[in-house]
Amino acid sequence: MLRSLLYLLLFTLAVSVIKAVAGIIAKVFSESAGSSPGAGPSRPQPSAHAVGELRKDPVCGTFVSTATAIQQKAGGEVRYFCSTVCRDKFRA
Ligand SMILES: [Zn+2]
Repeated sequence: MLRSLLYLLLFTLAVSVIKAVAGIIAKVFSESAGSSPGAGPSRPQPSAHAVGELRKDPVCGTFVSTATAIQQKAGGEVRYFCSTVCRDKFRA
């Protein structure tokens, strides 16, 4: 009788300790999640090598980097395209 009572007491104690630990963990996680306002919906990280000016693709309107864009010289003027598809559309 006394032994079963002791077990019950230990069990209750263990449950309360687990609940407390779980509460602390939950609090830490919610605080760390709240303290980072920059972590919004997935934004593409700017790649380190994508340097150069941004120019507007005259076909689709996408801004492309002069370092990575497809270039097309036309009458002394250089145009920048996001893809060969846009370049071909522009020439057509
Ligand atoms: Zn384009």
